[in-house]
Amino acid sequence: MPLEPGFRGVICASFGSTDDTAGQDTGGRPRHDLRFRSANPETLSVLRSALERSCIGVRLVLAGPPADVHAAAAAAAECGMLDEEITPLCDEDGRRVVFCGHCRAATTIKAGSSEVDCQGCGTTLAITDHFSRRLGGYLGFSAHAEEAS
Ligand SMILES: [Zn+2]
Repeated sequence: MPLEPGFRGVICASFGSTDDTAGQDTGGRPRHDLRFRSANPETLSVLRSALERSCIGVRLVLAGPPADVHAAAAAAAECGMLDEEITPLCDEDGRRVVFCGHCRAATTIKAGSSEVDCQGCGTTLAITDHFSRRLGGYLGFSAHAEEAS
């Protein structure tokens, strides 16, 4: 069912096989469900157009692997949504995205990884706790920079 223009309820977007948004309490507000396999340019543009058709005051609930939830939250922020309007429900066992601090390439990693080889420049990245809301991922820096310098 397409979203009515001027929707003022809660948009629940889920990624992958999660059904975490199913039990989400919308406080009696109307809800609109979107289900995507993953966050990619195509599904994010569907999400963006849903947000553009809704009113100020709409809420967004995002559920799924961190990689997808973070990408969707970044897209929603581009549409002018505020942090307090977005509820991220991350599946902490899901994959997440690391952005290389050297070449800026995005590399997807499994939960629990602490190092990964950058897909862009091949540097072995140590994953930091620095989360970039704008990029929708964690920052990684050369794991062996200290030995090299
Ligand atoms: Zn890199």
